[in-house]
Amino acid sequence: NPLAKAKYHDSVHNLRQLPAADGREVVFAGRSNAGKSSALNALSNQKGLARVSKTPGRTQALNYFEVGADRYLVDLPGYGYAKVPEAMREAWKKTINIYFQTREQLTGLVIVMDIRHPLREYDLQMLDYAVARGLPAHCLLTKADKFGRGEQAKTLAAVRRELGDRASAQVFSADAKLGLEEARAVIAAWLGI
Ligand code: GDP
Repeated sequence: NPLAKAKYHDSVHNLRQLPAADGREVVFAGRSNAGKSSALNALSNQKGLARVSKTPGRTQALNYFEVGADRYLVDLPGYGYAKVPEAMREAWKKTINIYFQTREQLTGLVIVMDIRHPLREYDLQMLDYAVARGLPAHCLLTKADKFGRGEQAKTLAAVRRELGDRASAQVFSADAKLGLEEARAVIAAWLGI
């Protein structure tokens, strides 16, 4: 597992604090509660890497996890909790926008979506950021264990149709350990590890 070495590196609250080295990074985005922390833990095979079910919207930071020399997974704050004040949400949106536009080390975007609620507004916004700069994107339809095989396949086909050539997609489950190898291969290729 190329992601097993992942270890916490830093929490970045300001874009001036981003790691400077000319490495590579893959960013994880997702609505709050989509299952992003669980996905990061499953992919790295480390239970406590990204904390699961943190206080909603409390820490607004990009969390960096190092998976090799100058190779990082970046955990964006979950989005969608109404409790985050509007002004903070707007400021953060600006930060994320600038990050996507300017971060040269960024080589791929993983969008984590609950298979029961795919491609919501926030997911499409993230996708737009990626498309705007020609960044490859990959969607994890997680919590797939909530569906039977038939429903998984049907949802995946529908999501792929809607994505067109903007992103790839797969089914995933942190709980059932489904799709781990497929996702790791995509991410490792983007990181060049
Ligand atoms: P985050 O807010 O996107 O980081 O989401 P979390 O990883 O904290 O997960 C949110 C909730 O979904 C928690 O209660 C998890 O136990 C649950 N969850 C996460 N992944 C899965 C999964 O693959 N299957 C199922 N059934 N539940 C999951």
